[in-house]
Amino acid sequence: MTAPVLDVRDVTKVYGQGETRVRALRGVSLRVERGDYVAIMGQSGSGKSTLMNILGCLDVPTEGRYLLDGNDVRHLDEHQLSILRNRRIGFIFQSFNLIPRMSALANVELPLAYGGIKGAVRRKRALAALDLVGLADRVEHEPNELSGGQQQRVAVARALVTSPALLLADEPTGNLDTRSTRDVLDVLDRLSRAGRTIALITHEDEVAARARRVIRLVDGEIVEDSVR
Ligand code: ADP
Ligand code: MG
Repeated sequence: MTAPVLDVRDVTKVYGQGETRVRALRGVSLRVERGDYVAIMGQSGSGKSTLMNILGCLDVPTEGRYLLDGNDVRHLDEHQLSILRNRRIGFIFQSFNLIPRMSALANVELPLAYGGIKGAVRRKRALAALDLVGLADRVEHEPNELSGGQQQRVAVARALVTSPALLLADEPTGNLDTRSTRDVLDVLDRLSRAGRTIALITHEDEVAARARRVIRLVDGEIVEDSVR
């Protein structure tokens, strides 16, 4: 029996105290198995970012438990959380977050460099990841020489190059035009078919429609969890 990639058990998150107290998550439970592709939807203020921060080990629940790839995040300190994060999660952000004046290849190699992987192996794996996202012919380009969709595909390559348990994307197509959105979603479809586990936060129906499963948050609670 392998543990689910995400195992969220009755998680609450409260910000502030007294008058300013906000219950951003009110008892969220969620399991995501290996290979699943989940879209998390909800209006502004529904708790998506709060949930994303917890799933991404950027924050911890107020109450309840969260196990990432079998690891209980309870009692982990900042440093331990950062290690878990770096080893198990590939992040994809709305704003790409690539390093300027560094080639696509160097950007994708970076997480491997942090992981202490040697030059030749690093280069080979980064090239393979860029090939997977359809950018084999752009590896020496810098971010400002690439379209938005291409930059986001570099970011996807960077997220997957470490073979994380989870690809976690926050509005990955939020800054992209229709064509680039389709290119990035096609890449995620391919990765999903290849067995990667993906959790994607979005408020766009056409993006969520690509996922196998849709979870809808309203006021910090899951009101829908449906498989297509
Ligand atoms: P979403 O991403 O769906 O827009 P958030 O998770 O950002 O929702 O916010 C959920 C609720 O928690 C909102 O009412 C928001 O104002 C509140 N909130 C989020 N972050 C904080 C914070 N750091 N301090 C206080 N309240 C917060
Ligand atoms: Mg948000």
